[in-house]
Amino acid sequence: MSLVVVNPATAEPIAELERAGVEETDAAVASAKAAYPAWRAVSPQDRARLLRRLAALVEEHAEELARIESQNVGKPIAGARGEVGMVAQVFHFYAGAIDKHYGETIPVAGGVDVTFREPLGVVGLIVPWNFPLNIASWKLGPALACGNTVVLKPAELTPLSALRLAELILEAGIPEGVVNVLVGKGSVVGQRLVEHPDVAKIGFTGSTEVGRSVMEGAAGTIKRVTLELGGKSANVVFADADLERAAAAAPYAVFDNAGQDCCARSRILVQRGAYDRFAELLVAATGNVRVGDPADEATEMGPLISAAHRETVAGFVPDEPLFRGDVPDGPGFWFPCTLVEAAPADRIAQEEVFGPVAALIPFDDEADAVRIANDSPYGLSGSIWTRDGARALRVARAVETGVLSVNSNSSVRAHTPFGGMKQSGFGRELGMEAMNGYSEVKNVFISTEV
Ligand code: NDP
Repeated sequence: MSLVVVNPATAEPIAELERAGVEETDAAVASAKAAYPAWRAVSPQDRARLLRRLAALVEEHAEELARIESQNVGKPIAGARGEVGMVAQVFHFYAGAIDKHYGETIPVAGGVDVTFREPLGVVGLIVPWNFPLNIASWKLGPALACGNTVVLKPAELTPLSALRLAELILEAGIPEGVVNVLVGKGSVVGQRLVEHPDVAKIGFTGSTEVGRSVMEGAAGTIKRVTLELGGKSANVVFADADLERAAAAAPYAVFDNAGQDCCARSRILVQRGAYDRFAELLVAATGNVRVGDPADEATEMGPLISAAHRETVAGFVPDEPLFRGDVPDGPGFWFPCTLVEAAPADRIAQEEVFGPVAALIPFDDEADAVRIANDSPYGLSGSIWTRDGARALRVARAVETGVLSVNSNSSVRAHTPFGGMKQSGFGRELGMEAMNGYSEVKNVFISTEV
């Protein structure tokens, strides 16, 4: 059965593709396995040169890639350009990381002990629809840098940018078979990758529910897994913070990518003394978010990914929210920016909505803020706004998440580690940390005795 790819801003089809099944998945794994010995043998300098060339090609084709991503995901074009810029940065970073990922020499009696960073073999990369090209690059960069070969499965809703990237990968001179892109259902292609005996590792980003099944499926062959899953991150605003700055920034920490972001700071915790003032500023700032045609340079938020997802998101919103924004008329899976006042135990404050809906929650003091922030099965991201530096550090250490920002909502960069605690997953992407997830330490003792 063929797959029809839709533009979420118009609900119109934009491509029709063949779907891969189990047979094609096995063939892709076999191709990656055949390419592995030669790819791992490529010298570090040459591998770096190839990744640098890929980064340069992404830069050269940045506008084309941004337009593909914007059309397929419904992302505002300005945001899509920023994301493609990061994809190039990621490949540049991992080109430079190749000859800086060292082993060790360890003092031992009777000889020399050295460690090597060995590649794993064939890795399966399963990617979601919210940041298709970005998240693919976060996995491809370190996987290729370490000398692995790859089978990449984009989400069925958004396969177009990965298919274009596969062409650029070949154009960069990376040999055929090193990266294999498969378009197909997660329950078929993804599942087969997870269970395939010749796949050494799965790098997965998506829902916590599917992450759980990936972990279960990987157990059969003791596969390594990296899981980047859901989130319900807290944006904690203390009364001593620069409230104007915090309120002006808060909408973009939830409504960016229409809230379809695992890092979305979708619980906004505000200290009681500042609550009313902050709510007033937040409502005004949210009303200024420009929602509309993703191709318009001024647009800040586009539609949701699908009609089905819009229904799920709508199911979280009460009849009378604190604020509900406007959306364009006509087709497309539009959903307004929405603010809801909530208590920590409410469903809206506990479950990942993955849409442009934020819960505003009051707290009493520092201990109360930390307790509410940690009252979640997730632990991915978050922000702390305060002018008290010691408090910022205390709270940053106490909040159970993998990524945090202070007086800022920005915490994802090509060269710093990213990943979750608790049910947001484990393993780290980006930065040098990701190189550890795509390699294995081998320890070798060499006797020097005569
Ligand atoms: P999924 O977890 O279902 O999808 C993520 C990826 O996993 C897709 O490529 C999907 O393939 C694949 N997949 C699905 N089932 C399996 C399986 N059994 N084995 C292996 N791979 C599989 O996320 P959804 O797209 O359904 O989104 C649902 C919710 O997940 C969202 O509303 C949000 O809460 C959360 N989510 C979180 C993300 C994050 O960044 N942490 C990203 C996306 C979603 P395909 O879709 O092609 O079938």
